[in-house]
Amino acid sequence: MFAKDFSYAAPASLAEALALLQSQPEGEVKLVAGGQSLIPLLKLRMTEIGALVDVSKIPELHGITDDGDGVVIGAATTYFQAVNSPLVQKRCPLVIQAVSQVGDPQVRARGTIGGSLAHADPAGDLPAVALAVDAELRATGPSGSRSIPATAFFVDLMTTALQPAEVLTAVRFHATDAPHAGTAYVKHRHPASGYAIVGVAAAVWLNDDGTCRAAHVGITGAGTHATRAAGVEQALTGKRLDDATLTAACANAADGLDLMSDPYASGEYRAHLTRVLAKRALAQAAATAAQR
Ligand SMILES: Cc1cc2nc3c(=O)[nH]c(=O)nc-3n(C[C@H](O)[C@H](O)[C@H](O)COP(=O)(O)OP(=O)(O)OC[C@H]3O[C@@H](n4cnc5c(N)ncnc54)[C@H](O)[C@@H]3O)c2cc1C
Repeated sequence: MFAKDFSYAAPASLAEALALLQSQPEGEVKLVAGGQSLIPLLKLRMTEIGALVDVSKIPELHGITDDGDGVVIGAATTYFQAVNSPLVQKRCPLVIQAVSQVGDPQVRARGTIGGSLAHADPAGDLPAVALAVDAELRATGPSGSRSIPATAFFVDLMTTALQPAEVLTAVRFHATDAPHAGTAYVKHRHPASGYAIVGVAAAVWLNDDGTCRAAHVGITGAGTHATRAAGVEQALTGKRLDDATLTAACANAADGLDLMSDPYASGEYRAHLTRVLAKRALAQAAATAAQR
């Protein structure tokens, strides 16, 4: 199918993009970056739009920088650019672990870090990562710039805390290359698209004696939006992350999730996958942390 006609603009600056967003009535204009999620929706006529503003060439939305405790990735950075960045490879291995499992090479060549997070697909991989490493999402709108913690960003099905006239400019991922820190991303892929039926991102920080200082668990695919498994995290703090402890804690990994169900995977199956994959991701993250 073909999309309905729309106008197209590719601004050269963030200020120009913001002006274009405000020049149209709300709901009539949308940003596009890699187009990997939005263009299929337009072509299937699941959404209609009067104007597209392409942010992929805006310099302020590019660049990967080290800011001490974290790595800041411009929103229009493609998956391909992120996964090939030595800085991201060294300091944010969880981003690499997840991004290398996104879709296929074509999707990773065009899809962007910011587009994925702004789209907030319930089966997207990066939202779980953003939650597990306490990412900070930076947005600029008509009334200035602000920073949104990942825990407040994913609100509901494909709904984020971004306002319609705001542009996501960058994402700051907390670095996890410190001693005694480890991460892992584990997912059960849909065989056709590669999207997560369930995906779990885990980050673990150990004390010198090998007990768990902190564990963060981000879950995607199971519910309507990515969430942290707070109950699992609390159950692990201060404990040795052995098999029995992980099994007991992860038995509650699906508690409180607004489970989705479809012809491929029932809610019950998604709950089962959540428990199994949470344990696998935490075990892998703990093993890495123990070696550092
Ligand atoms: C075949 C296929 C397989 C896929 N498999 C996976 C997978 O396994 N895992 C996965 O996570 N994803 C998968 N995807 C989705 C892919 O990751 C998308 O690229 C990503 O979800 C959106 O990034 P984009 O840059 O293409 O965004 P676009 O499609 O351009 O935009 C998506 C949404 O984000 C908004 N947006 C974009 N940039 C900004 C910005 N800077 N500020 C504010 N809003 C913005 C747009 O307005 C739009 O609403 C797949 C896609 C395809 C086509």
